[in-house]
Amino acid sequence: KHSDAMKPPWLTVMAPPAEVLERMYRLLREGKLNTVCDWANCPNLGECYRRQTATFMILGNICTRNCSFCAVPKGKPEKVEAKEPVRVAEAVADLGLKHVVITSVTRDDLPDGGAGHFAATVREIKYLNPDTSIEVLIPDFKGDRVALRTVVEAAPDVIGHNLETVPRLYRRARAMARYDRSLQVLETCKKLNKNIFTKSGIMLGLGEQEWEVRQTLQDLRQIGCDFLTLGQYLQPTLNHIEVVEYVPPEKFNYYREMAMEMGFVRVVSSPLARSSYHAEEMLVDL
Ligand code: SF4
Ligand code: SF4
Repeated sequence: KHSDAMKPPWLTVMAPPAEVLERMYRLLREGKLNTVCDWANCPNLGECYRRQTATFMILGNICTRNCSFCAVPKGKPEKVEAKEPVRVAEAVADLGLKHVVITSVTRDDLPDGGAGHFAATVREIKYLNPDTSIEVLIPDFKGDRVALRTVVEAAPDVIGHNLETVPRLYRRARAMARYDRSLQVLETCKKLNKNIFTKSGIMLGLGEQEWEVRQTLQDLRQIGCDFLTLGQYLQPTLNHIEVVEYVPPEKFNYYREMAMEMGFVRVVSSPLARSSYHAEEMLVDL
């Protein structure tokens, strides 16, 4: 039985109208672009595509890692497309986006982990869309400082890297990642350029305890992380790690207040929040 059958009502979303999807898919096809919205089965796809926003996924759609919560296909990755940065920039222009989020699969096979491709994408977007704010959601680049510097020097407005869960659950959820290294990624970016906002997120519902969430948020504040997202983990297929708990909306409110008290500049905390959900609103009035 799929876990959908047991989903509480607050996780129900309306199916998006066909014409909204068609318009977006045409644009993506023409630009040969991937979105994480599609590949990760994001529940907000209808809402975001209707608002003509999306999170572009560069560097292909096959990941070299094997996170057990993630729907992105795993295996031998594709060739890097040199023209992709320009195509993303053109799609941003076509959609008239004021804010764009760029992410990627993890490319442990590439010498720079794809950092140069991220930087090129940021530059091309800026060139064609000087008024668009840019957020990159990066992999850990195995903690490589040179790779991080490459991304920082392209000067996106926001650099995100998700911790995804509390340290105890890394082995189960994110076997090829390390909690300390992920924290260091955010810390290094902040040290390299304090004017770039750093952002992270965790999923709730994997069996984490409240004290573990509190500790993780404190760890993030300790290294100067500015923005935080908290959302409910949803099992993409039965082959993925199980949902341990559907965390009620009140608990998300409770964590939002906790995080604001700790000093996060912006917090989005709700069952359907994803790291790129309403991302543009985080920068308002900053
Ligand atoms: Fe895409 Fe993010 Fe919106 Fe989900 S929340 S549909 S991943 S932009
Ligand atoms: Fe999915 Fe990212 Fe993990 Fe790859 S590294 S499996 S894209 S969450």
